[in-house]
Amino acid sequence: MTTPPPFNALERIRTELAHLEAQSLRRNRRLLESPQAAHVRVDGQNLLSFCSNDYLGLANHPALIAAASQAVLSTGVGAGASHLITGHHAFHHGLEMRIAGFVGLPAALLFSTGYMANIGVVTALIGRDGEVFADRLNHASLNDAALLSRAKLTRYPHNDMATLETQLSSSRSVQKLVLVDAVFSMDGDLAPLPDLLALCERYDAWLLVDDAHGFGVLGAGGRGALAHFGLASPRIIYMATLGKAAGVFGAVVAGEAEVIEWLLQKARTYIYTTATPPLLSAALLASIDLIEAGDGLRVHLQNLIKQLRASLRTPNWQLMDSATPIQPVLIGSNDAVLAASQRLLERGILVPAIRPPTVPANSARLRISLSAAHTEADVAQLVDALNSIHAAG
Ligand SMILES: *Cc1c(COP(=O)(O)O)cnc(C)c1O
Repeated sequence: MTTPPPFNALERIRTELAHLEAQSLRRNRRLLESPQAAHVRVDGQNLLSFCSNDYLGLANHPALIAAASQAVLSTGVGAGASHLITGHHAFHHGLEMRIAGFVGLPAALLFSTGYMANIGVVTALIGRDGEVFADRLNHASLNDAALLSRAKLTRYPHNDMATLETQLSSSRSVQKLVLVDAVFSMDGDLAPLPDLLALCERYDAWLLVDDAHGFGVLGAGGRGALAHFGLASPRIIYMATLGKAAGVFGAVVAGEAEVIEWLLQKARTYIYTTATPPLLSAALLASIDLIEAGDGLRVHLQNLIKQLRASLRTPNWQLMDSATPIQPVLIGSNDAVLAASQRLLERGILVPAIRPPTVPANSARLRISLSAAHTEADVAQLVDALNSIHAAG
């Protein structure tokens, strides 16, 4: 027997993995052994968690559990088909109408995930002859969507409206689409949506607003970023994810009726995939009611944000300029942020270390995310731990 030739591709992966490890860039999963909540059991340890996107504490809410439990008895577990075959259940349909009315747009379409919604919308709206303009700090799913559309991708520095205007004015594409996170997921700051809409009107572009972190949190009744800024325009395509503040799973795209009809006809990530389990839509109907009635939760959340920002004293660790539940502490180096996250863990507190490529090089950070499920005592415990770790160097 002759020895087979070396499998070079596998060798390369081994080398690359070792390289990630050496740079403190290898990612590990933790094992969650409780429901998602402020207090969780992870890897056998009880921890106070500042990690989730469950901003209103709805992921394990009794009303959602009850709605899902009832629905599972009447609808079963799986949708069994895609929406355009026989998978479109009355619960999906009811949820689309409920959310369209809730955010004040003519129509809405459910997608399985926010990632798939962004891919579906961008590739349905624009092609090779188009140009996509994107904030440099946008979520990866928007970048991937732009690449998959084969349109020209032009990125602008974070929130830099002057550069975007120059780019839009010099574009020779007839089809233009601006992509933006309403709340930047690793920084917590807002996009200047009124300025973006004005530019889209001036240069005849679509505006896709990804409100993954604003829906349920911003605006009257938690209606999201458009309500927060009081914006409405047929140019806006609104995308909200339903696995963050809404506490469940999925995503919704809302806009003009013709746009939604076009997506139903053309969005490949809508067409060529199984519908989500209807019980999730039943849980989401209960979730939207709680979001709408949740001003008390949002006031409590804002108070926690103020408490954190007022009491954290870490001169070399900057809190970033954020008024949302995403409150990152900028540290810089990958090793230092891992060490800080580890020290917090030793004190029973879970805060993720966010490293490149999720964030730009040398801007590794602790990403604290607050939830209405936290108490003032929880935030005080986090602040004490951060202050003491920082003081210790
Ligand atoms: C989480 C997130 C997504 C993806 O949503 P999923 O439903 O988790 O796939 C898209 N955009 C932004 C800004 C996000 O934070």
